[in-house]
Amino acid sequence: MSTGISRIGVVGAGTMGNGIAQLCASAGYAVTMRDLKPEFLDRGMATIGKNLERFVSKGKLSAEEREAALGRIKPTIEIGDLAECDLVIEAVLENYEIKATLIRELDAICRDGAILATNTSSISVTKLAATSKDPSRIIGMHFFNPVPLMQLVEIIRALQTSDATCDAIVKLTESLGKTAHVSKDSYGFVVNRVLVPMINEAINCVHEGVAPAEDVDAMMKLGANHPMGPLSLADLIGLDVVRNIMETLHDGFDDPKFRPSPLLKQMCDAGYLGRKSGRGFFVYAN
Ligand code: NAD
Repeated sequence: MSTGISRIGVVGAGTMGNGIAQLCASAGYAVTMRDLKPEFLDRGMATIGKNLERFVSKGKLSAEEREAALGRIKPTIEIGDLAECDLVIEAVLENYEIKATLIRELDAICRDGAILATNTSSISVTKLAATSKDPSRIIGMHFFNPVPLMQLVEIIRALQTSDATCDAIVKLTESLGKTAHVSKDSYGFVVNRVLVPMINEAINCVHEGVAPAEDVDAMMKLGANHPMGPLSLADLIGLDVVRNIMETLHDGFDDPKFRPSPLLKQMCDAGYLGRKSGRGFFVYAN
């Protein structure tokens, strides 16, 4: 499938960035992965190596394919190295100022017609597009964690995104073996707008003493056929991230139905952030 894209830039070698780089390289694209410090790149490359090794041990990839995929990724701290890319996907910190500055930097070096995609989970893609000299080339590509395993990519059309940009990104997403669903730019897009208020309501059930966390999770697994209970999922996502998304929905829509649960706020204030802090709705040994 020809996408007109041969080299993909990935900015940020963290959780999402290294997953996106791995995915693109495994699909045969040349990848330039940029982060701020060599040690961040080393960590990202080591994670990719380990994850590809897991595919090898499961017999889903040969050792040669692993080496070839790794060889297609060029790690760099130089932003100028992204000039040769047909598409740059940014996965830097979830902060408007940082992403807007990056778009302006990319505008200065990328060729006309190169596409700039953002993996933001909550920032308005329309507002980010407005910072570009060519807003028609800005689009959201919302991957899910872990990137190599999750099937969906939400494609977010900013108000300014052109049809050509959108079509190219849908094609590219399909060439990566993923399923693309296009939505208009709106707070939380679709998945987080539906999923995170459900988690918030599960937290309210615990807060009001309707049922303890273990029971809420067990009931949602047995009664709604969810593979994981909403509170275990909250612990996995990180309660600070859940709170952040609820606040984005609450502020954006200015609708009380998106009010973050008082218990969610309190747990964040206590530092009980879920798996990453060792304690959330459940306790984690390591
Ligand atoms: P992360 O903290 O793991 O990684 C971010 C990386 O970006 C860091 O390595 C940091 O050094 C680097 N960075 C910061 N500024 C940079 C710059 N100007 N140039 C190059 N590198 C820079 O974060 P993450 O979890 O990978 O999230 C990245 C983005 O993806 C965020 O916008 C987040 O909202 C979004 N997202 C995250 C998830 C998730 O589950 N983690 C899911 C979907 C979307």
